[in-house]
Amino acid sequence: MKIAVYPGSFDPVTKGHLDIIRRASALVDELVVGVLNNNAKTPLFSAEERVTMIQDVTGDLKNVRVEYFSGLSVDFVRRCHAKFIVRGLRAVTDFEYELQMAQTNRSIDGDIDTIFFTTALNYAYISSSTVKEVAWYGGDITGFVPPEIVDRVYGKIQLLQAEKGSRS
Ligand code: ADP
Repeated sequence: MKIAVYPGSFDPVTKGHLDIIRRASALVDELVVGVLNNNAKTPLFSAEERVTMIQDVTGDLKNVRVEYFSGLSVDFVRRCHAKFIVRGLRAVTDFEYELQMAQTNRSIDGDIDTIFFTTALNYAYISSSTVKEVAWYGGDITGFVPPEIVDRVYGKIQLLQAEKGSRS
């Protein structure tokens, strides 16, 4: 069984992430999308919400499983009995960080390899943080996230804005 883990924040999942999930799942027997639950930044969506959103947009991919985890990615990869980590490379700016992560992970566990997918050009500029920023100011995010995710992002942002408004 070839098992790979695609770890990330996915806050929220974008069309770029989904493109990587589709392409990676075609290469392996099982792809586990691992939603990181211990970010330094406070995420917009809880880990459970992020898992549900990814499940909702990957329902047609039978060999994709979604779970959240905390701690080191390598430990989660081992728990999944996986040998591969999947990551996406959007631009040169991702490269240095990703290379460092891949080398660190390999020094922790030499049996685990990182596979990089270069982003489809039409999604290369998309990031979860720009999605949140555009939505915060009422911009159109339909080009950036799958259709099932659009209203959840606006809804969450409106909740946050209402909370902020009632506090000031
Ligand atoms: P992290 O906080 O771990 O960087 P992200 O959710 O931002 O988590 O990204 C997870 C992975 O997906 C990373 O490898 C990142 O480079 C990749 N990724 C992010 N956005 C895109 C995109 N638009 N196209 C392809 N890959 C992407």
